[in-house]
Amino acid sequence: MSFIKSSANKTPIVDTVFSIVKLAKQDIEKNGKENVVDATIGSLYDESGKIVAYDSVFNHYDAIPHAAKAKYAESFKGNATYRKEVYNWVTQNKDIKLAHDIIATPGGTGAVALSITTFLDKGQTVLLPEIAWGSYKLMASENGIKVDYYKNFNGDHFNLESVSEKIASLQEKQDKVVMILNDPCHNPTGYSLTHGEWDKLVKILNEASKKTPVILINDIAYIDYSNALDNSRDYMECFNNISDNVMITVAFSCSKTLTSYGMRCGALILFAQNETDVNDTMTVMEKYARATWSNINNSAMDNFVYVVTDNRDNFLKEKETYIDIMKERSDIFLKEAKNCGLDIYPYKEGFFVTLKIEDQKLAEKVHSAFMDHHIYTVLVNKGIRVAVCSVSVPKVKGLAKKMKDIINSLSE
Ligand code: PLP
Repeated sequence: MSFIKSSANKTPIVDTVFSIVKLAKQDIEKNGKENVVDATIGSLYDESGKIVAYDSVFNHYDAIPHAAKAKYAESFKGNATYRKEVYNWVTQNKDIKLAHDIIATPGGTGAVALSITTFLDKGQTVLLPEIAWGSYKLMASENGIKVDYYKNFNGDHFNLESVSEKIASLQEKQDKVVMILNDPCHNPTGYSLTHGEWDKLVKILNEASKKTPVILINDIAYIDYSNALDNSRDYMECFNNISDNVMITVAFSCSKTLTSYGMRCGALILFAQNETDVNDTMTVMEKYARATWSNINNSAMDNFVYVVTDNRDNFLKEKETYIDIMKERSDIFLKEAKNCGLDIYPYKEGFFVTLKIEDQKLAEKVHSAFMDHHIYTVLVNKGIRVAVCSVSVPKVKGLAKKMKDIINSLSE
């Protein structure tokens, strides 16, 4: 007998991040901050080990009148000003000619989950990168949706061949393809597709769309930490080339962009050639929103609008200092990794670098051995994630060599 519906999955969540974060905390309490490297945390931390909360974001938030914080948002799709400014922020004057619409969501999580649940029926399959943020899989299984995987890399490049093959084999058994791509600044590898790769991807989607509708969910959670920020949206112009039978949904998150993870504010932008496709999708999404989260935090939306309009320059300047710090940390790690022969996936930018360990049993052993040496990381598929967003420069120095030595000692 159970109170819970029979279809529910009762296995507890295995959150590979939060459980290790806890172990790192315990080690710090026991052995002191200076003796532990905690590279688990996926939020931006400063050089003194504190979470970053931008003044350019939170000073204004604190001053928002209580009434605005108390109020519901003006619509289930989100406030009109927020939706407009999210679109402007995400596309940043790129010449995108597609029909589009925007819905506010609880973070990027809400945006991706809303896409999965809207496009796929129970029993269908969503295509994920084999090295990816773990939540995608849970979002699928909670919706009764199966998963299949494309390979992330072919050497140091995005594996377009694998995407193409997986789409074709999915089309053998299903009337639609839904695929997730977390780009730019992929979690956990830090890879970003080149414009050439984006162009080729759109061609693959178009070709496939002659057979079935194809939906690409582009998760851009980390886009505002691109090193070449001014060009970080250029690739979106290739969206213009999608065929009538392709839709792209872009999942945006205020969590990383504004350092406001706990405020649960994000958005989904729908792009298609035909307005009726966008409108029909939005009708379904709006109802889903009403039936689950109802509406999004009113003052968080208001604050986003203020930050990206009236306070834009201050905000960009403050954020830039942390992009620079992350670049300094990752440059050191990459250089030292190269010098000592520590194998890593092709990192370009963003919060995380991932050690390449394709043998999962070995990766588990290494992950655990790191902890024996007070180094806390996150085990991912085919690798180990190192969060350069939260490890200070002095702690990054020498880390790659320490890791390499530990790996070497395991094979002795
Ligand atoms: N996408 C990726 C790849 C992430 O790593 C995260 C957060 O860790 C998110 C989306 C969404 O975060 P949030 O729901 O806080 O916006």
